[in-house]
Amino acid sequence: MKFGGTSVADALCIRQVVDILEQHYKNGDKLAVVVSAQRGVTDQLIEITGKLPTAKDDSIIVPLIQALGKRHMTALEGAAPDYVAEAGAVIEERLICLQNILFAVYNLRELTPRSKDYIISFGERLLAPVISAALHQRGIPSTVLDGCEAGILTTPRHGESTALFESDERIKKRVGPLLEKEIPVIMGFMGCSASGTVTTLGRSGSDYSASILGAGIDADEIWIWTDVDGIMTCDPRVINDARVMGSLSYSEVMELSYFGAKVMHPRSIEPAMRKNILVRVKNTFNPSHQGTVIVRNGQRDNRVVKALTYIDKVAAININGAQMIGRPGVAKAIFTILAEHEVNVMMISQGSSEANISLIVDEEHLNIAVQALSNLVKQGVVREVTHNHNVCAVAVVGAGMAGAPGTGGRIFTALGKNCVNVMMISQGSSEANISFVVNQKDGARAVRVLHDEFRLSEESDE
Ligand code: ASP
Ligand code: MG
Repeated sequence: MKFGGTSVADALCIRQVVDILEQHYKNGDKLAVVVSAQRGVTDQLIEITGKLPTAKDDSIIVPLIQALGKRHMTALEGAAPDYVAEAGAVIEERLICLQNILFAVYNLRELTPRSKDYIISFGERLLAPVISAALHQRGIPSTVLDGCEAGILTTPRHGESTALFESDERIKKRVGPLLEKEIPVIMGFMGCSASGTVTTLGRSGSDYSASILGAGIDADEIWIWTDVDGIMTCDPRVINDARVMGSLSYSEVMELSYFGAKVMHPRSIEPAMRKNILVRVKNTFNPSHQGTVIVRNGQRDNRVVKALTYIDKVAAININGAQMIGRPGVAKAIFTILAEHEVNVMMISQGSSEANISLIVDEEHLNIAVQALSNLVKQGVVREVTHNHNVCAVAVVGAGMAGAPGTGGRIFTALGKNCVNVMMISQGSSEANISFVVNQKDGARAVRVLHDEFRLSEESDE
């Protein structure tokens, strides 16, 4: 079971979390817990590490340490009054360590990716002892492990590392035996590379930790506890009658999370899928709601389209030139140069005339992408590169679209009837996702039109 930042935001929330754990423990379930940092703490740590190398003085360090100390001690006093001295000493020691590192970054005027990863893992390091103490308070034995101690071995890519398969065996050996006698509390978001250096798994990475650990111990189920009832048909800020879905397949969740839906860390499905473990998304504040179940094949479900996502922080790039026609290697040149500049390409489309390739990239990467591609213009590989900031991308997701004729027709007919102009279309051959690009101003309307067309707000017999 993984609990996210809002679920552990204060003593009251933590007591609710422990209620849930206690109930399962008493029922005889064997549990491992993964915790993230308290809401906002990772952001605070990222912010200060960004400032320190160029800060005028070191006056921002102590106030942050004091605020973190106060917040975690208050949570501890509220959730585990009998363990304040014991767990408080651990927290105190970690705060001193963090403070020393922050002063070092300031004094050296240097922040390496490696030190940044260690610093931003402190949100989890500070909270895990609180949760473990709160379990002790209920008489439940519990120890704390950091991601590395729990066996998560990762690639050395700081800030965005990926778990290696060798983790499975290590996790089984280290976490497995603990399940027989206690509820281990494991710090999410981090692992370590082969050299033993702390790495982090990317923002929201504790979902991924839960999945890696679940796969390692061959869990029956992986539960992601969050602050909403489950995965929704669309972002409720865009569609007010968006609905919580009862079940989804692994591939549907992957399509949704890769495409900007803030449902789960994008890589968190892979380990569960590899071991075919059921994943459940549930609300800490409404535990009796059944939530969303994620399994290999979305169960007994007649819907072709299940959910929509919408990203407006994207930009379109068009690459044109008659010289691209029939010439092998143009696509290679384009994608190589973009990769070298670490540009993330979200959608690609090429017409069969081959005279034009269109791409959708993160808005933040637009300038660097256009600059990189201008080299290809200079070399005569392509004629021109144009771009458009005012676009947004919509993805229509549903595994049932595969092999179901007419879905594309329905999507684009509905959009046409409502005068939404479509600028680019792409469908992967998995057929679980049809994505298209429209003018920024049409984005929310396009989503509304399709949410209605496919009656996504209505309960079906899912
Ligand atoms: N604390 C980390 C973050 O804020 C990991 C997580 O919350 O899942 O990104
Ligand atoms: Mg989070």
